[in-house]
Amino acid sequence: MNYQDLANLIFPDAKPISYYEEKYPPRNLKEGAIVTRFAPSPTGFVHIGGLMQCVINRHLTNQTQGVFLLRIEDTDQKREIENGVKQIVDAISDFGIEFDEGMINETEEKGNYGPYKQSKRADIYQAYTKYLLQQGRAYPCFATPEELEEMRKKQEAAKIRTGYYGVWAKYRNLSVEEAAQKIKNGEPYIIRFKSMGNEEKKIRHHDVIKGNIDFPQNDQDIVIIKADGLPTYHFAHAVDDHLMRVTHVIRSDEWVSSIPLHLELFQALGFQTPKYCHYAPILKEEDGKKRKISKRKDPEAAVSYYHEEGIPAKAVCEYLMNIGNSNFESWRRQNPNSPMAEFQFDISKMSVSGAIFDMVKLLDVSKNVISKYSKEEIYEESLAWAKRYDKELENLLQDREYSLKIFGIERGNSKPRKDIAKWSEVKDAISYMYDDYFFSAKEEFTYAKIDDKQEIQKILKTYLEKYFDIADDKQTWFDRIKDLSQELGYAREVKMAKQEPEKWPGHVGDVSTVLRVSLTGRQNTPDLYEIMQVLGKESVTKRIQRILS
Ligand code: GLU
Repeated sequence: MNYQDLANLIFPDAKPISYYEEKYPPRNLKEGAIVTRFAPSPTGFVHIGGLMQCVINRHLTNQTQGVFLLRIEDTDQKREIENGVKQIVDAISDFGIEFDEGMINETEEKGNYGPYKQSKRADIYQAYTKYLLQQGRAYPCFATPEELEEMRKKQEAAKIRTGYYGVWAKYRNLSVEEAAQKIKNGEPYIIRFKSMGNEEKKIRHHDVIKGNIDFPQNDQDIVIIKADGLPTYHFAHAVDDHLMRVTHVIRSDEWVSSIPLHLELFQALGFQTPKYCHYAPILKEEDGKKRKISKRKDPEAAVSYYHEEGIPAKAVCEYLMNIGNSNFESWRRQNPNSPMAEFQFDISKMSVSGAIFDMVKLLDVSKNVISKYSKEEIYEESLAWAKRYDKELENLLQDREYSLKIFGIERGNSKPRKDIAKWSEVKDAISYMYDDYFFSAKEEFTYAKIDDKQEIQKILKTYLEKYFDIADDKQTWFDRIKDLSQELGYAREVKMAKQEPEKWPGHVGDVSTVLRVSLTGRQNTPDLYEIMQVLGKESVTKRIQRILS
């Protein structure tokens, strides 16, 4: 009896691997095209680090006319949740990212290199396991849980590395006959990889981001097929990356320690290794210490958080690109209006040390991104957000024409307004422009320098009677406020009050503030002239009259 016979005994029906090699031929892509993948478990949860991976992978595959695929790694079925795949696809798609190939939902997929869900690939893994058995690079292991536990205890007591390797690998050297006999006797078993590595020897690996790294060789005989017949992650991903013709594995560096094992698996399977690109995960600073953003502790770890907050997808992606590539920021400064797609991403410039996630910076990026939106884009995106998360805002936005006028204030010029960082701020930023909302709000107004009630009434009354004409152009409008200031004993120019502060109770700016607060309830707003134009004569008059009465 030989390896071949043992392989046939274990997997009598598995196809030869040549079948799959032909079924999934090398891709016919342009030179330099990157094929890469996002390979989550179907937990439904997408971590901000996962989104960063998608932003970068999508950008690079677009840049090189490559392929970006979604592979679902569901070999650990305990982690699966209902609709987990659909939730992942939707969460990523909320950020404007679509996959070229892969799962679309729990059951459907697109692309010629599938199935894209590992639980549907059992026959493929069997074929490659059979191949390893034939080569003497895999073997059935009959260790019981008790045996393994005992082994671990001995290793711990002796203070040596735990695991199934070298002399500890009890079933590694079983003869083919002995193994076959046990199988025929019905003894339960799993399949292990037979490592040829030596922990005392080193291998050198070249990582596209980290450069050369020396590792001890792998010597663990890891499980490749579990008792449930499904493969383990390490083995499955090697087979999949090969058959899906992945050229680059771009993933967070929590996987870098698995490299010796992955390289040995690729080699034993006769596969060419993809290029590995391990980047540092996004960090968070807390009490002066850096740590990974944690799913358990940090709400911002979940991508759904950004969507719920209404931070535009474009801003989140742009910020992640910022974290992803150190030269993005200077490119953005030089090309403030270019679409992000024009940025040439350089994998080797990704972070090795880990960038700190900075919400203030993200919101700053977001303000910039929104400032470049047209009023129509702002309207559509905030309405879409409101429909999901804020009924009150949705109601405000009913009147499209009027809302567009509001969003048009201080926009489309060379210095557009930058007061909105997320859609959840829109209601507060515009609600005072709607009469229904404005008149029903109960808040007291806080005036600034001029805050005497009678004085305020005098200013408003005089303004309404003598100086208010909705048809005025901006210059005339402002000249009239100056006239009003002068008539009531205020400095008509700010600089006059600056030169002789004791002479004036206030200046034209203070008078404008009275008008601003009375019309909007706020001391800071976008351009008051534009606001009054949008409100219109009737609303302005009503707002002033309310204070007068
Ligand atoms: N399924 C692994 C994960 O959940 C994929 C790791 C990889 O990209 O190779 O992160």
